[in-house]
Amino acid sequence: MPWYEDFDRVIAQALPGLSVSREEPMAGHTTFRIGGPARRMAFPASPEELGALLDLAEKEGWPWLAVGNGSNLLVRDEGLDRLVIATGRLEHMERAGGCGVRAWAGVSLARLAVFAMEEGLAGLAFAHGIPGSLGGAVYMNAGAYGGEMCQVVDTVTAWLPGRGVVELGGEALAFGYRRSCFEENGGVVLYADLALRPGDSQAIRREMEELIRRRREKQPLEYPSAGSTFKRPEGYFAAALIEQCGLKGTAVGGAMVSPKHAGFVINTGGATCRDVLALIGRVQDTVKRETGVSLEPEVRILGEGE
Ligand SMILES: Cc1cc2nc3c(=O)[nH]c(=O)nc-3n(C[C@H](O)[C@H](O)[C@H](O)COP(=O)(O)OP(=O)(O)OC[C@H]3O[C@@H](n4cnc5c(N)ncnc54)[C@H](O)[C@@H]3O)c2cc1C
Repeated sequence: MPWYEDFDRVIAQALPGLSVSREEPMAGHTTFRIGGPARRMAFPASPEELGALLDLAEKEGWPWLAVGNGSNLLVRDEGLDRLVIATGRLEHMERAGGCGVRAWAGVSLARLAVFAMEEGLAGLAFAHGIPGSLGGAVYMNAGAYGGEMCQVVDTVTAWLPGRGVVELGGEALAFGYRRSCFEENGGVVLYADLALRPGDSQAIRREMEELIRRRREKQPLEYPSAGSTFKRPEGYFAAALIEQCGLKGTAVGGAMVSPKHAGFVINTGGATCRDVLALIGRVQDTVKRETGVSLEPEVRILGEGE
């Protein structure tokens, strides 16, 4: 019996309140607007329900994958033969003593930054324009304009394979450039406690507005994309190398190297994953040939052969 038939049979009894959909197009759950169907998609509404679902998936041996806002994903056109666990309904956040904030995995960074600003808490202005969820941002150690998640995350309550729910902090989180321990341990962020500092709401608002203005000026926010396509190679800037090689505006099907910012591959309409992968390959080959630098994708490519 295929795993999803077993899933359909078991889930209705084990977690009757859980919202589930079948053959859900991933294009509707990624900022690239690309991706074939997820065999099954589940939308847990609390950390407890998410933890229980992960326990069950592990026990039953279902192939699963957690996603946040899909802002760093490139999903293959054939889709995902998996249980995709979407965290978007885990939206709660609250003050947690002193300058602390506790936020569930699905809270968007934009809402979190505004909440902190309104509470007079500084440290999250950098995150306001990053279109991810808290869970995805912790996983990626997302950062911008000198800020990074590792500067504000105190502890993370996560579900780990074989261990269940644990609290992790300090070195156990293994934060690095666009990475954390969750890449290695396969864990899922349920919620995080952030340590912020006292700040002036008006000054924080001005800082956020200035950072958004700079993003709008430089980034092709008018097109679907997954942000920076490539990681920053040591000692270089990916966008500068790509521009230097004359690749701005290069297109494959509906995918194009943004004429506004060479670090972004954009979907100009109807791009497939195949288009984007072909364009990524062309950019990597050209940059390697002309500058000797290897570019590594920052976007996570998901699906057969990932
Ligand atoms: C226009 C634009 C601008 C961007 N600017 C920036 C920027 O300035 N800086 C930056 O760092 N990034 C930027 N990004 C990329 C992206 O927003 C970040 O990487 C973000 O942290 C991804 O969060 P997400 O919720 O969308 O994660 P997703 O894309 O859904 O997932 C990314 C990875 O995180 C994992 N994941 C998601 N949720 C969880 C969870 N709860 N527990 C464990 N793992 C999880 C997924 O399995 C996947 O491997 C930008 C993207 C766009 C489209």
